[in-house]
Amino acid sequence: MTSTTLGTRGLFIDGAWTPGAGDETLTVVNPATEETIAEVPQATSADVNAAVSAARRAFDEGPWPAMTPAERGRILGAMVEELDRRRAELVDLNIAEAGSTRMLAEFLQVGTPIDHFRDLVHRVLPQFAFEGAVAPIYGQGIGQGVVVREPYGVAALITPFNFPVLLNLAKVGPALSAGCTAVLKSSPYTPLEALILGEVAEAAGLPPGTLNIVTGDVEAGETLTRHPEVDLVSFTGSDAVGRKVYTQGAESIKKVVLELGGKSANIILDDADLDKVTESVLAGFITHAGQGCALQTRVLVHESLHDELVARIVGVLGFISVGDPADPATMMGPLIREVQRQRVEALISTGVAEGAEVAFGGGRPAHLNKGFFVEPTLFVGVENSMQIAQDEFFGPVAVVIPFRDDDDAVRIANDSRYGLAGGVWSADPLRAAAVARRLRTGMVVINGGGGGLNPASPFGGYKQSGIGREFGEYGLSEYLQHKALQWPVG
Ligand code: NAD
Repeated sequence: MTSTTLGTRGLFIDGAWTPGAGDETLTVVNPATEETIAEVPQATSADVNAAVSAARRAFDEGPWPAMTPAERGRILGAMVEELDRRRAELVDLNIAEAGSTRMLAEFLQVGTPIDHFRDLVHRVLPQFAFEGAVAPIYGQGIGQGVVVREPYGVAALITPFNFPVLLNLAKVGPALSAGCTAVLKSSPYTPLEALILGEVAEAAGLPPGTLNIVTGDVEAGETLTRHPEVDLVSFTGSDAVGRKVYTQGAESIKKVVLELGGKSANIILDDADLDKVTESVLAGFITHAGQGCALQTRVLVHESLHDELVARIVGVLGFISVGDPADPATMMGPLIREVQRQRVEALISTGVAEGAEVAFGGGRPAHLNKGFFVEPTLFVGVENSMQIAQDEFFGPVAVVIPFRDDDDAVRIANDSRYGLAGGVWSADPLRAAAVARRLRTGMVVINGGGGGLNPASPFGGYKQSGIGREFGEYGLSEYLQHKALQWPVG
């Protein structure tokens, strides 16, 4: 796919398509070929204000927040079916726009989020009955009172470029399920995978103003997060921008949910089976060319297994095919833009200057003269205090650090400002679980278990990886207020 008509319809505001108030456009580039695939209107502050007004009106005047969960569920179910119908198109779009390999696009980028959305609408939503303060009242009894759940209000949803379908739906799904109305602003690199949700909403009969979709970058994001008529911000992105969003939202005391970066540890204990571990270590940094927040890019390995593990990983890295993800044989695609490639290369140079050793890669693939590619890169001789062990590359780079015993592994893993995910490998699952419980992180995958693919599993960060959770009933709860109704006793 080299070009698309998607996006030419403009911004989706109050149930209609509009070219927006400004003249500027966003150029959407295929990161593997550097070809332009679309020109999309860039939203101005006036467009963002119009989108917030539409969402505010749709919240205050309805009908969406006043509908029963069952009524909402019918329309959201239709959205799920429409997404499913357009699955192949979404996969092609994701490959072209986000640079995913085909397997990743079909599975984690597009398949999983549709399944998660379906689970939310069909299994989780019916458990969250809230009818407002009218009879019948559904809620939890507390003596002479009842606690009812109500939609939080107008939600601003801001997402990054790396998993656009998954992350847009991780916010749009629960926000709408809870009865909120929303304005979605995706990354300026991947606007098409957000705008397509406007067509999905239209096809499903979502009431106008319930979901509004704008484009843009810093100006649009600032306008949205500072807007006094927005009640809640759910942001996914870097911790640097997350800090700004937190401050911007504070001006009018908004609820701010932050899903930020990570530098997750994959801990390989001395009794682990290296035959099983190798694939997980590789996936921890070559998946989506390392552009995943939850990837396990710090490999902590017991000192007795270090040399053997490094030899195995280096042996396999030579067989990883890097190239255009439109080719089904490609195992690793490009970074999203040149600026991101330069950031990754600068951090690789920092690692060398810090005294770490490049065991594999470190440069650009010699056979590719187009696209924003970097070789898969493995660092050894790394101290956890080095910048390459503390900062997110967001590129295909892992660091390997040996440890002495379980206590040492826990200490190193927790010596990080992040706490998003992690892994533990051991022949003894209870020993692995004991280590996992000591990690200050939001999710730990034991012996390669399901992780974020379980739709009931909460996802989110400890420490500077964020505040709040996404997915399942935990994600839905973020979009709900709890109100206490009290009656006189006796
Ligand atoms: P980014 O922080 O640069 O941008 C994220 C979004 O914020 C974009 O839509 C951008 O336009 C917007 N933005 C920029 N400035 C803003 C401002 N001042 N106010 C409001 N919005 C603003 O992130 P990115 O480079 O697109 O994505 C990579 C980052 O996202 C990595 O750090 C990664 O770890 C993180 N991430 C986290 C999760 C998670 O669930 N925890 C998931 C995916 C990615």
